[in-house]
Amino acid sequence: MSRAISLDGVTKVYERGIRAVDRFSLDIEPGEFVVLLGPSGCGKSTVLRMIAGLESVTEGQLLLDGEDAAELAPGQRGMAMVFQNFALYPRMTNRDNIGFPLKLEARGDVGPRVDATARLLGIEDLLDRYPAQLSGGERQRVAIGRAISREPTAFLMDEPLSNIDAKLRNHLRAEVARLNRELAVTTVYVTHDQAEAMSLGDRIAVMRDGVLQQVGSPREAYALPKNIFVAAFIGTPRINLLEAVVHAPLPGRVTIDLGRQSLTLPEPLSPDHQMLRIQQGRPVIVGLRSEAVRIARPSLARARECAMSGIVEHVEYLGHEALLHLNTGSRAALVPALEGPRTDTAPGGHRKNKEGTVLGRLRDRAVARLPGFGPEERGDQGAVGVLEAPPVPAAPPQSAERAAIAGGDLVVRTGPDVQVRPGTHVPLLIDLEHLYVFDQQGRRVCPAPAHQPGLDG
Ligand code: ADP
Repeated sequence: MSRAISLDGVTKVYERGIRAVDRFSLDIEPGEFVVLLGPSGCGKSTVLRMIAGLESVTEGQLLLDGEDAAELAPGQRGMAMVFQNFALYPRMTNRDNIGFPLKLEARGDVGPRVDATARLLGIEDLLDRYPAQLSGGERQRVAIGRAISREPTAFLMDEPLSNIDAKLRNHLRAEVARLNRELAVTTVYVTHDQAEAMSLGDRIAVMRDGVLQQVGSPREAYALPKNIFVAAFIGTPRINLLEAVVHAPLPGRVTIDLGRQSLTLPEPLSPDHQMLRIQQGRPVIVGLRSEAVRIARPSLARARECAMSGIVEHVEYLGHEALLHLNTGSRAALVPALEGPRTDTAPGGHRKNKEGTVLGRLRDRAVARLPGFGPEERGDQGAVGVLEAPPVPAAPPQSAERAAIAGGDLVVRTGPDVQVRPGTHVPLLIDLEHLYVFDQQGRRVCPAPAHQPGLDG
């Protein structure tokens, strides 16, 4: 039997007022695979431990199959946990390690169950060895076996693969997904690795500073991030984030001023781009995934594409593709929560938020990549005539060395056979269907929040 797990406004405050989880609400269906994703310290393990009954819930309610779980001890919840540091009994064979929980529950002859579990995990040959005689990956399989053999009502997995080398990790990842499918047991899986989350979860719950940011299918989280944090946390290479100002004079075309260059949106505006008029005159952050930009001349632009250009700073050859690091003269916006350790908790348990808005923080940390590209040096570009001019080439970097340090403000994905060298000036076409705009609070305003085209989430 697989469990439904429901968290309703669940909060965890540790000693000294540390608010590890703040009003977290999520309904997990029986048999569903949900991944809790976020940077270290954002509260993922605390959520998992509350579900397991290893931590009390400070406020809010945890329901298991619709019943309040507050009074249920961990042993009564019928859940199995797998941790990063697999704890196997060193003096027991692997067979005994897997059978031990069953013996504790006095389930009679445990042999057939242990054998079935070992077959499922492909570890039949290892049963008579001791944990010390296994590789890390094999040990983790035994640990998973021990969790599975009890036929738990839910698997709670806390970074179970992070101690395993990369190649084996991919393999075990696929196995964890297969086990969830075959056993149809509700699985809650904690990771800070977005690629792991994307490949495993039916749904991903993205957390930041104890607060749930977004829940959705991997596809939805990638294609329609609710805010700048989710947009930046999910996807490799990371989404390009550029500081911009929206100009939407009436009458007149809507343009997105990126500093040196601007994007003139084609008429008639799509309903999503229509919404941008509300941002008239406001600073925003534009998000462009690396695949939303292609190298092509303006004359080749398709209906929903806009032209700009950039200077190649670095070509990152990856075998199956190449990433071009370009300088477009824009200001790259940084998301501090992703760049370094998280901010500390202020007295009283609330996290510091000195600057008030995401944009405020972004601006403080924003890097003017090259001299001459700062907003103070953009000049008066408020006039529509200037903005509607053909794409302005980015000013050449002052020196090659400087450019190398700067590293570019736009990463573009391209085929591996691309023939460009650093210093080359390349024309770019931006796919406007895949352009995101975030407001000063970091919320996505374009595509409009209600926009859900063709998504399964
Ligand atoms: P994650 O799993 O996302 O890395 P955790 O849930 O482990 O995050 O921790 C969330 C926050 O709660 C962190 O600030 C962490 O230091 C704090 N924390 C975790 N466990 C305890 C504890 N037992 N006592 C006090 N603070 C804790």
